[in-house]
Amino acid sequence: MSEITLNAPRMFDLTGRVALVTGAGSGIGQRIAMGLAQCGADVALLDRRTDEGLSVTAEFIARAGRRSIKIAADVTSGSALNEAVSQTEKELGDLTLAVNAAGIANANPAEDMEESQFQTMMDINLKGVFLSCQAEARAMLKHGKGSIVNIASMSGVIVNRGLNQCHYNASKAGVIHMSKSMAMEWVTRGIRVNTISPGYTATPMNTRPEMVHQTKLFEEQTPMQRMATVDEMVGPAVFLLSDAATFVTGVDLLVDGGFCCW
Ligand code: NAP
Repeated sequence: MSEITLNAPRMFDLTGRVALVTGAGSGIGQRIAMGLAQCGADVALLDRRTDEGLSVTAEFIARAGRRSIKIAADVTSGSALNEAVSQTEKELGDLTLAVNAAGIANANPAEDMEESQFQTMMDINLKGVFLSCQAEARAMLKHGKGSIVNIASMSGVIVNRGLNQCHYNASKAGVIHMSKSMAMEWVTRGIRVNTISPGYTATPMNTRPEMVHQTKLFEEQTPMQRMATVDEMVGPAVFLLSDAATFVTGVDLLVDGGFCCW
């Protein structure tokens, strides 16, 4: 047997790595950004939010002893994303990790939906992920290494009972297949691309007071009988980004409490 050089727990260590997280001012992106810092990464935090969301994330990261920068930008702008990557590399170092979590959700019956509502969903949830990956990969290709995780949704795999959101579901199915396609474009050049598809997760996106009836249904429909917490998205993201997943690319990791089994 050859000598074992593998140090299993250290495979998840991100010390010295630099990450960019979109949607880092709220919900899943915010908690993943915090988790990456807890694993040792310095993190560029991007969001369009103008509230204190990014500052909350940045303050947590400072307390964890890591560096961060805050970037107010919209993922529908390719030039803003290119600029964000440049700023990240200038201030934090070579970018090799990225999590693209910025996204929106809303609903409307297909027969009533204005073209503009459909288009905005695609612009943010699908084109926004494309432009983010493109800007990140341009830097990573220069370094010959990188790992990208896009936050898709189980809605890219199943149709949520009772939710009229064909545009959202289509955008997420697009993210899953686009990510596999990019994974194959870059597979021999050191870059891995995977998706996480969360099930119903307790975030500001779906815990608004008017959603109380809806969230009860979400809990009942989920085999684990509850929604995910944002903490439960951190482990899957760290795994996919880290050296624990060096042979994992083009995968969609469902994190859904068993939802898609039924
Ligand atoms: P969230 O709390 O609303 O966080 C999303 C963040 O992205 C917000 O700060 C949002 O800002 C920002 N954002 C939206 N559009 C943007 C843009 N064009 N440019 C830059 N930032 C933008 O939602 P979340 O639940 O954490 O969702 C994160 C991701 O997980 C999304 O892609 C979502 O589709 C996905 N997901 C969520 C669930 C769930 O149950 N929560 C389940 C499956 C998948 P604003 O507040 O201004 O919009």
